[in-house]
Amino acid sequence: MRLGVFGGTFDPIHFGHLRAALEVQEGLGLDEIAFVPSYQPPHKRRRDLTDFDHRLNLVERAISCIDSFKCLDIEKRLPIPSFTVNTLKALRSELSASRDLDLYFLMGSDAFFELKQWHDPEGILELANLVVMARGKNHVENLVEYARKEFSEYLKKGRIVPFQVTRLEISSSKIRTLRRGGHRVHYLLPQDCIKYMEEHKIYMEKEKGPERLNLFIEAVKEGHGERVVALDVRGLSSICDYFIIAQGRSTRHVQGTADKLRERLKKERIYPLDVEGEREGKWILLDYGDIVIHLFYEPMREFYDLEGLWHEARRVVEEEE
Ligand code: ATP
Ligand code: MG
Repeated sequence: MRLGVFGGTFDPIHFGHLRAALEVQEGLGLDEIAFVPSYQPPHKRRRDLTDFDHRLNLVERAISCIDSFKCLDIEKRLPIPSFTVNTLKALRSELSASRDLDLYFLMGSDAFFELKQWHDPEGILELANLVVMARGKNHVENLVEYARKEFSEYLKKGRIVPFQVTRLEISSSKIRTLRRGGHRVHYLLPQDCIKYMEEHKIYMEKEKGPERLNLFIEAVKEGHGERVVALDVRGLSSICDYFIIAQGRSTRHVQGTADKLRERLKKERIYPLDVEGEREGKWILLDYGDIVIHLFYEPMREFYDLEGLWHEARRVVEEEE
């Protein structure tokens, strides 16, 4: 039996995971793929990790159309934090009694580049082959190069298998951010999962509305953004609900404000979907979905005159004198 094991937080599972798993299964001729949601991942310190049962249910809904995909709740029964090496050991002892077992542990390249920091990486490689799927900016060549440097013995033995999957730049964090921003997440994950998320109100922003806006405004002010203004562009723009505009006295000042406010929002687990202009600092745009922040080096603010452009928008906070 050649079994693929796909561990992950799956918060939530998405087409990036699913398509990759299917391609690996077909490409390597694996009999089954077991999705193993992590009960409490050691490397993720997010306080808002979604309940295990919800994450598990989402996986089950996502894989129901493929018979050879299974979902295992094994990590719920193992000690926390959930170390992959323990999971693989437990799987071996549960399954190999009945049949010969070849394990293939699937991971994305982002995880692979952190493998050295995992608990007992060699132990993992002793128990399973490692299928590494290129993700993000990484290519298969980068993976091989890294594997040669860090795990040369295992690479030589063929225990590390770099695998090219269709690149789908989808991440669970992006899905969470979109949903928190009140955006739709269709076509990033199965419809059944979206339905489940809606039914159970998962990833809904708690601090939505004025509280959320105030949090952003405070973050800009704490980052020493000056002449802070927020414009309510709901009904005027399809881009977002609010613009926050602020300025700095130098490009360094603007860059500093952007850094500080990002740090501040990160503490609330709020991450930008996109950031532009950071390097130059003449203007920096931080796109948080429902809220878009424009930071300007003073003369640039006048030049772009967003407030003039959006004069119809209601001003939520007036500038401080
Ligand atoms: P988050 O953004 O919360 O980190 P994620 O999308 O990275 O979520 P995880 O649950 O962290 O999902 O990922 C589980 C495993 O799946 C990891 O090994 C990761 O590298 C891999 N993976 C995640 N998304 C993709 C993708 N789009 N393509 C290939 N592999 C992926
Ligand atoms: Mg991840």
